Parts: sequence; structure tokens; C-alpha cells
Amino acid sequence: MRIAFLGLGAIGTPMAVHVAKQHQLAVWNRTGSKAAAFGAAHPCTVAATPREAAAGAEVVITCLPTSSDVDGLLDGPDGLLAGMARGTLFLDCTSGDPETTRKIGARLAPLGIDFADAPVSGGTNGAEAGTLTVMVGGTDAQFQRARPVLECFGRRVEHMGPLGAGHAMKAVNNALLAANMLALGEGLVALVKSGIPARKAVEVLNASSGRSFVSETLVPERVLTRLWPLTFRLALLDKDARIAAGFLAGQGVSGPVLHLTSELLRQAHAMLGEEADYLEPIRLIEQEAGVELHE
Ligand code: NDP
Repeated sequence: MRIAFLGLGAIGTPMAVHVAKQHQLAVWNRTGSKAAAFGAAHPCTVAATPREAAAGAEVVITCLPTSSDVDGLLDGPDGLLAGMARGTLFLDCTSGDPETTRKIGARLAPLGIDFADAPVSGGTNGAEAGTLTVMVGGTDAQFQRARPVLECFGRRVEHMGPLGAGHAMKAVNNALLAANMLALGEGLVALVKSGIPARKAVEVLNASSGRSFVSETLVPERVLTRLWPLTFRLALLDKDARIAAGFLAGQGVSGPVLHLTSELLRQAHAMLGEEADYLEPIRLIEQEAGVELHE
């Protein structure tokens, strides 16, 4: 199948690698040198514009920071709409927002373009391994069409509901990740300050009911080792928590915990900047308490 992939960022790149192994791929990236480097390493063509990438593609995949960024690729002489033909399946793997996505879908439907949201979870490790969870929003027919493509990089590909439902699911997931991260940072810092070694505290949590993905994997591998790799920008998690807070409000759910989570991430993002990793708010908690979580 001819597939276009736009957005070769931290997660888009390993996802596109899997697509290149199974399909005829065209890639486009805003910073052209990254697309050129991808093209030198993987079987694909490198497009100069979104229009060129989409021309002749049966499926177009985007993986950009926000839904507004996706919207921004549509128009103009070099935009996606100038390249996409009727019948194209357009899958947005951005962790986006349901509202903007539904607006884009309403614009594309009369043009005969099948637009579905398909955000992913599993991190850059999961993308490299091809084991992502993919949360799809769209019609049954769109989902059936999308599934084999998404299985290039997804192990669990789920239809969540109509357009926007995938983004809602993903935003709530990431808000929970953020809440777990902040709460674990606070609890661990207090335990360490009281004299309990961080590693022992984490091991006991992981054999108890307070455990989470953050305590089982992220903190042991990235915080206690002091490696702090940059795999997912805090700016993006901040965006996800904000989308989740808006989603809860739209459903009439007051959600004080997730609203506070969103506010704390906004503050941490403002303090740490655009390139900080999403686990770095734990550093702020450490600094405030005057202790470090290490082996
Ligand atoms: P990155 O910041 O690493 O990469 C962003 C990509 O989008 C780059 O290719 C960048 O191009 C491009 N881009 C940014 N702004 C624009 C724009 N206005 N127009 C066109 N292209 C643009 O992000 P990630 O790859 O980490 O994340 C992408 C999406 O996937 C986000 O929605 C994120 O929340 C989600 N996600 C990320 C995960 C992760 O572990 N990293 C996990 C799960 C989901 P350029 O090279 O020019 O900067």
C-alpha cells in the first residue's frame, strides 16, 4: 500500500520505520534534514512538501505535537489537501484534542477523505518494538480500514468510538500517568527524607497496592539511576493533561485531581522549558524537599 507519514519526531520516527518495512512509504518532516536522514536509512521516498507526500497515497498518517499543528498542514498550495485524493484514509496519530479533530473531520468528510484519530501509547520503546497501544476514533468502516495499517506499529489497536474518542482516551490515560508521576514523586521524597532508602521504598511499593507504571518502570530505570533520558517532552504531557481537564469539564465532571495535575504540569513546564523530559517535575519536588531519589 502507498502510505505517507508526516512528522518524524521522537515517536513518529520509530513508527515510520515499521511502516517502511511493510509498505511503499513517502515521508515528510518540517525540518527537511531529518526527513533526508530517515530517507538515507530506510526504504522510502522523501517529499519536499505535505502535498507531495500525500499525492498518490492511499493512507496518510500524521504524528505532530498538537491537533492545531495538523490543521496547519491542510491548506495552501503545498498543503495536504492539495495532495490528497477522494477516498484517502487520513489517520492522525498525534495525541490531539477531540474538538479540533471533529472540526477537521467535518471539513474533510465532504471531500471524501476518511479522517480518524489514532493516538498511541507505549513510549518510544514501544514504538521501536512495534508494541504500541492505538486508540482509534472513527466509524466502524474507517476502523476496519485503518486496523491493518496501525498494526504495523501497534500490538493492541482498539476502536474507542466516533471521531475524537481516541484522543479523549489518550488524554485521560496521560493525565493519569502525570498524576501517578507527581504523587509518587511527592510520596517517595518524603519517605527518603525520613530515612528510608529510595530503592527499598520503590521495591516495597511495587509489591504493594500503590504501584503503577511509573513506580514499576519509569522511576527505577530513569530516576533512581539518575539517567533522566529525554523520550517525551514535558510540554507534550502538559498539553495532554490540559486536554483531559477540558474533556472532563465538557462531560460535566468536576475532576479536582486531574485539574490540579494539569495546573502543576503547567507550572513545571513554565519552569523547565520546552525541551525538559516529562519526568523532570520529580526533580522540582526533590529540589523543594532538599533530597535526591537515587540508588
Ligand atoms: P517531538 O517534539 O519529538 O516531534 C514533533 C514532530 O512534529 C517533529 O517532527 C516536528 O518537526 C513536527 N512538528 C512540530 N510542529 C510542527 C508544525 N507546526 N508543523 C509541522 N510539523 C511540526 O514529538 P513526539 O514525536 O514525541 O510526539 C508527537 C506526538 O505523539 C505528540 O502529540 C505526542 O504527545 C505524542 N506521543 C509521544 C510519545 C513519546 O514518547 N514521545 C508517546 C505517545 C504519544 P521538526 O523536526 O521540524 O521539529
